[in-house]
Amino acid sequence: MAKMYDVAIIGAGPTGLFAAFYAGMRDLQTIVIEALERPGGQLTALYPEKYIYDVGGFPAILARDLVQELWKQCSQFGAVFRFNEPVQMMRQLEPGHNVLTTPEGEYHAKSVVIAAGVGAFEPNKLTKTPGAVEFEGKGVHYVVRDKEAFTGRRVLVVGGGDTAVDWALELQNWARSVTLIHRFDHFEAHERSVLALSDSRVHVLTQHELAAIEGDGRVEEATIFHNVTQAEHTLRVDDVLICIGFRANMGPIKEWEIEKTRRNILVNPSMETSLPGVYAAGDITLPEGAPKMNLIANGFGQATIAVNMAAKFVHPKARVFPGHSSQKKGMRYAPQPVGDA
Ligand code: FAD
Repeated sequence: MAKMYDVAIIGAGPTGLFAAFYAGMRDLQTIVIEALERPGGQLTALYPEKYIYDVGGFPAILARDLVQELWKQCSQFGAVFRFNEPVQMMRQLEPGHNVLTTPEGEYHAKSVVIAAGVGAFEPNKLTKTPGAVEFEGKGVHYVVRDKEAFTGRRVLVVGGGDTAVDWALELQNWARSVTLIHRFDHFEAHERSVLALSDSRVHVLTQHELAAIEGDGRVEEATIFHNVTQAEHTLRVDDVLICIGFRANMGPIKEWEIEKTRRNILVNPSMETSLPGVYAAGDITLPEGAPKMNLIANGFGQATIAVNMAAKFVHPKARVFPGHSSQKKGMRYAPQPVGDA
């Protein structure tokens, strides 16, 4: 018999992460399913290096740092996180039994919180570079599912953001060699990671782009060129990992049997959707009788309502109001006394 979670949260953007935290506060057995390989939603995929000024308690915080704090906050209760798994289908067998289908399998949950933002993020793909389409899955990768699979291999990483730099640094622990190429002369990744590159055995080539990938049945060579001098050279490689950003895809959600518009799920003020026990929060929602406000703070508030409604749905005798967090026992991150910072 498949495990039945109390709540399944779709999306690990800021709304989904805060929902996971609140689900932990309510002692709900929780699973969070995310299409991307890491948490943070738009903050991770679109603007990790930007400052955010309008989240309570932080006069200014880098998007990446806010994600890290949310991650710490929500990881203290033992929720299960499944990354790299877009939820393709959500079906309600009966109220209290929902089935979520991903490429990896099916998950069952009594209640669901949809925190899918602007849609499932998926990696941008190279479609025009010769060999990129032909060798996808045969040495050309857009995500790393198993880093041990790179053991002893010669890897070319393409890209200049956090994903490319982080994977280049990580894969050097497994691969025989790692070359990182980026089309600009500077990286758009965390300063600390860029500094770590100079201390690593990653071979870094800026102002270089991928011209072609070749091989016999699978990747054997990659031709790269210097985009100022146009000088070309060919590298013997076994794998090419392409990390050139993400785009959001509402695709699967459009097919779900739930009341929605083209881009949003309709919710009432209690964050209830048209399906009993299924709630939505954050950018994905179109709230009835309230202004639409795509802001992190608003997602937090909506996640709080959605999860506490879910707690009441799962345990009908429970109250919706969760009580105050200051009265909850066993919180791992006890605040520092003011003035001790
Ligand atoms: P998202 O951040 O979009 O996260 C949704 C997550 O769900 C994604 O990770 C996605 O991959 C996942 N997902 C979607 N569908 C599926 C599926 N089918 N299966 C599995 N996973 C799925 N807001 C502010 O408050 N302050 C700011 O200063 C600010 N600056 C911004 C700057 C920029 C450039 C942008 C683009 C936005 C900014 N925002 C800001 C808006 C803010 O980022 C969003 O309101 C916030 O990210 C919404 O969070 P969310 O969790 O609801 O959605």
